[in-house]
Amino acid sequence: MSAIYLDHNATSPLRPEVRAHLIELLDSELGNPSSLHARGRRARHLIDTARERAAAALGVHETELVFTAGGTESIQIALLGAAAAAGARGLVATRIEHSAVLGALEVAAERGAPTRLVGVDAHGFVDPDEVASAARGCAAGLVSVQAANNEIGCVQPLAALRPALRELPDTLLHTDAVQALGRIPLDLAGWGIDLASFSAHKLGGPAGVGWLWVRRGVELRAPLRGGGQEHGLRPGTEPAALWSAAALALELTLGEQAQARSRWSGLAVQIWEEIARSVPDARLHGPAITDARRLPNTLNIGLPGVDGKILAMQLDLAGLCASAGSACASGSAAPSHVLLALGLDEDRARGGLRVSLGWNTSAEDCKRAVEILRGVAASLRATR
Ligand code: PLP
Repeated sequence: MSAIYLDHNATSPLRPEVRAHLIELLDSELGNPSSLHARGRRARHLIDTARERAAAALGVHETELVFTAGGTESIQIALLGAAAAAGARGLVATRIEHSAVLGALEVAAERGAPTRLVGVDAHGFVDPDEVASAARGCAAGLVSVQAANNEIGCVQPLAALRPALRELPDTLLHTDAVQALGRIPLDLAGWGIDLASFSAHKLGGPAGVGWLWVRRGVELRAPLRGGGQEHGLRPGTEPAALWSAAALALELTLGEQAQARSRWSGLAVQIWEEIARSVPDARLHGPAITDARRLPNTLNIGLPGVDGKILAMQLDLAGLCASAGSACASGSAAPSHVLLALGLDEDRARGGLRVSLGWNTSAEDCKRAVEILRGVAASLRATR
């Protein structure tokens, strides 16, 4: 029996339709999209069509959509591009951002920009007024708040950010929407967001493809310089086949989002209720299970006294792929910066186990996952 895969926030398996499309394209003799011969023109047409389809699926104008090499690159182009355009103005983000955002802030700080990180409450939510106060404090040129957290699944109050920033109307708002895309509805333009980053491999598309949405009129100074592709924002030869496959994954994902969302919510509640019943001291990190402000597909579970990495390794041996929510440094689990920001102590911040559902997760997978988790938790406890 193959292992159960509940690690879609790490990466989601390639969808079969996307795989078939990709293989066909890889065999189809595509040239460099900048070449004028027939193979080049075919590749250019593929990219133009992929952009049109991805933009239509996202509900944005195609000239606003930049293809990138993934979520990390989209974030770096947005944050460092905005920082370079804004001169000495500051950058603000939350403490629980993905390392791609925190890393971009580090680079901006090394280049002399003032940066501020805003804390979150015990469930992971940021207060828009605290964000605004930090932005005023460093005359922020850009504020970055993730749409949803990859470890604990809290969904941030994006709609309240622009009103809170009313005294700073020219401060750009970026959101890392890598985990939110396809899982919750987004109204980026309606919420007054200027820049948003996405990644295809969280949706059953290929790894190595992302998108950056740049609202019309927003000026970025490209951190990468080269051949001028993607409006000069992401220079480099375009991988036409990958981009076309990614656009298909996006269309499929957004087409089934409403249905998937309610299916995942039901399954996640069932998983948590079963765990809570059979492992009495298990804790749910992040928003409460009844809180509407949570990703429908993500649970972060703590078993006091059990290290998340050891738990994830034992689960792997027993046939369940899930993640320790914390980063892994030189073989030992570092405490998760997200769980620490919630106020958990170092031991508990090492203990998070992330279970994340996706396009091919079945009710049977979840039932077996609970059985495996229950058994492994009992045996780890017995050997302590
Ligand atoms: N942002 C978040 C919230 C993520 O979860 C990830 C991936 O784990 C990224 C950014 C980076 O995306 P990519 O792996 O496409 O570079």
